[in-house]
Amino acid sequence: MSDRVRNYINGKWADSKSTEWQDVVNPATNEILASVPLNGGRDVDAAAKAAQAAFLEWRDTPPGDRIQYLFKLKQALEDNFEDLARVLTMENGKTLADARGELRRGIENVEVACGIPTMMQGQMLENIARGIDEIMIRQPVGVVAAITPFNFPGMIPLWFLPYAIACGNAMIVKPSERVPLTMERFFQVVDTIGLPPGVLSCVNGGKETVDAILEHPLIKGVSFVGSTPVARYVYATAAANGKRVQCQAGAKNHVVILPDADLEMTSRMVADAAFGCSGQRCLAVSVAVTVGDAHEKFREAMVESARALRVGYGLDEGVQMGPVITKQSQDRIEGAIARGISQGATALLDGRNASISGYEAGSFVNPTVLDGLPWSSDLTTTEIFGPVLSLNNVSELDQAIEIINSNPFGNASSIFTSSGIAARQFRNKVNTGNVGVNIGVAAPMAYFPFSGWKDSFLGVLHGQSWDAIDFYTDKKVVVERWPAEWSRSF
Ligand code: NAD
Repeated sequence: MSDRVRNYINGKWADSKSTEWQDVVNPATNEILASVPLNGGRDVDAAAKAAQAAFLEWRDTPPGDRIQYLFKLKQALEDNFEDLARVLTMENGKTLADARGELRRGIENVEVACGIPTMMQGQMLENIARGIDEIMIRQPVGVVAAITPFNFPGMIPLWFLPYAIACGNAMIVKPSERVPLTMERFFQVVDTIGLPPGVLSCVNGGKETVDAILEHPLIKGVSFVGSTPVARYVYATAAANGKRVQCQAGAKNHVVILPDADLEMTSRMVADAAFGCSGQRCLAVSVAVTVGDAHEKFREAMVESARALRVGYGLDEGVQMGPVITKQSQDRIEGAIARGISQGATALLDGRNASISGYEAGSFVNPTVLDGLPWSSDLTTTEIFGPVLSLNNVSELDQAIEIINSNPFGNASSIFTSSGIAARQFRNKVNTGNVGVNIGVAAPMAYFPFSGWKDSFLGVLHGQSWDAIDFYTDKKVVVERWPAEWSRSF
């Protein structure tokens, strides 16, 4: 780590030309870790030009040679795994176990992208008419960029970059300005694998840097993950500038609990899904909807599970939940809890004004459970993004599905039940992109797309796997005739 976060452009570390800088803060201690550039427009230009120059050579490098760098990257990431996890915990606040888990999920994408020589193949049909053949070839798009959020600083860039470069593109990563150190450490690893300069770059910054990416004529595609309002802006601006764009956005995830669910397992898994990473996962459960008489028993078990969680600094042994990302987030989340209570919810567990021994300056909110938040509350359609779980009860499964389907977000939902028919009905009818059955956090593996519907996603192709191949390649169709009369005998 350096005091001033540097960019990685054209295979070298580069000081940013930014005139504005912001502190990177450890959310558990409030200690300043580094300073990050904010307006990196000129840095984007330098990175895009270097990437374009690299692309012209890289696109002709055989896919089988390109993936050799991914094998090296995978090994180098394993060698630096623990250090990367520590940096991630220090700047993001999540526990070391969660940091390790997210890095593992990221590395899985490197592994899957090693299959590009198979995955990137096109199609061919002989004799579409007599003597005429048709071929579909996949070719890389050019220079592409990934704009990523604070909550998974290691994994989310890896949803994109292994596929982008394996397909023959050059990629620029723009990490969240709140957590730039994981990517700085990651690029130290990249620096050791001998990739041709310019194939992979990292440019830091905030909105102005994003705008420079969205407007840069050499950048042909943008992958974005973040909140829904910013996703809408990125989607519209990238499209207006003629770029392909995919935006994974915010969430409000529900879990449905039927009376026949295993309550002990369910409350444990829902507690992890609601409070793990302090509720700052896009797959975090925000609302638990119990059906029929599941409510009473689940409510008690849930409060017990939530109360038992050990909150503290993610680097400390045994800690199960860390701080939220900033003081502003803490204030916003505490404000949402207060609003929920004033609108009629009962706080079964109120996590405001948390004080963690030894970390009094940290941005902590303890697990919070709100019971009976009215469906008319604006919070039912607001992403709180903190450790706050609402409990509600309905009498039928259909009602629970209707509640989920009428919510503007559609990232994820889960059902807990021992009934196969109820699970099947849920899976079939629910309008969310990721669905769990007796699973709290239904996070797709790297070899499936990371889905998301409605206000949780803008675009057609999601991150990871085959969707990534489609996003990072253009299809060229060739119709070919070699008239017999031209043939000479050899
Ligand atoms: P964010 O929208 O604030 O920031 C995301 C990125 O956009 C960052 O790189 C940031 O620098 C940039 N940005 C922020 N404001 C901008 C603006 N006004 N103009 C242009 N660029 C801007 O998101 P965040 O708070 O870092 O991350 C949390 C959000 O991400 C949550 O809403 C969460 O649900 C969502 N998320 C979604 C998924 C998914 O797969 N759907 C995954 C992870 C996180």
